[in-house]
Amino acid sequence: NHGYIEAVIGPMYSGKSEELIRRLKRAKIAKQNVVVFKPKIDDRYSKEDVVSHSGDSMNAIPISKPSEIYDYIDERTQVVGIDEVQFFSEEIVDVAIELADKGIRVIAAGLDMDFKGEPFGPTPKLLAIAEFVDKIQAICSVCGQPATRSQRLINGEPARYDDPIIKVGAVESYEARCRKCHVVYK
Ligand code: ADP
Ligand code: ZN
Repeated sequence: NHGYIEAVIGPMYSGKSEELIRRLKRAKIAKQNVVVFKPKIDDRYSKEDVVSHSGDSMNAIPISKPSEIYDYIDERTQVVGIDEVQFFSEEIVDVAIELADKGIRVIAAGLDMDFKGEPFGPTPKLLAIAEFVDKIQAICSVCGQPATRSQRLINGEPARYDDPIIKVGAVESYEARCRKCHVVYK
C-alpha cells in the first residue's frame, strides 16, 4: 500500500494555500490522520497556521528543516500537508519520497517561480517526481488575464533582477501578473 505525492503550484494569490486547506479539510472529514507543516521563516499572518489570502486557515507545525517532519509523524499518519514548499532545501524532495513510499499521501503547495520568473528552490524537482501536479493561476493585476507569475515591486516600481531580498526602508510588495505584464529590469 503506497502513498503518492501531489503538488499544487502557481504564482502568489493563485489559491495554493486555499487548495491545500481544501484537500486537507476533506481528508479530516474522512477521519484521516493529517499533519501539516510550513517553513519557520514564513510568518505572513500567523506562526502556527497555514493561512490563505482569503482568510481560510489550518493549524500547521513550523519547521526549520525537512527532516524535522519525521519527529511529528508515526504509523498512524495518513496525510502530510506542506505549505510554502519552495522555502525548504532540496532535502524536502527526499522526505516526500520516503513518506509516499511509506504509504502517506503527501500534498505540497508552493511557488513554481520566483519573482524573476525562474524555477524556485526544490519545486522543480518535486514536480518531476510527483504523481499529480496542479498548476493554478491568479488574475493578472494589470490586464485581468490568467496570471502565472509573481511581480515583485519596491516602492511600487518593478524590482530589478539583482535587488537584494530586503532593502532597508523600502516598501516591498507583490502582485500576480501574466507573462506579458510581468517585468524584471536587468
Ligand atoms: P496563494 O497561497 O497561492 O498565495 P491564497 O490561497 O493565499 O493564494 O489566496 C488566494 C486568494 O487571494 C483568492 O481567493 C483571492 O481572494 C485573493 N486574491 C488577491 N489578489 C488576487 C489576484 N490578483 N488573483 C486571484 N486572487 C487574488
Ligand atoms: Zn497581464
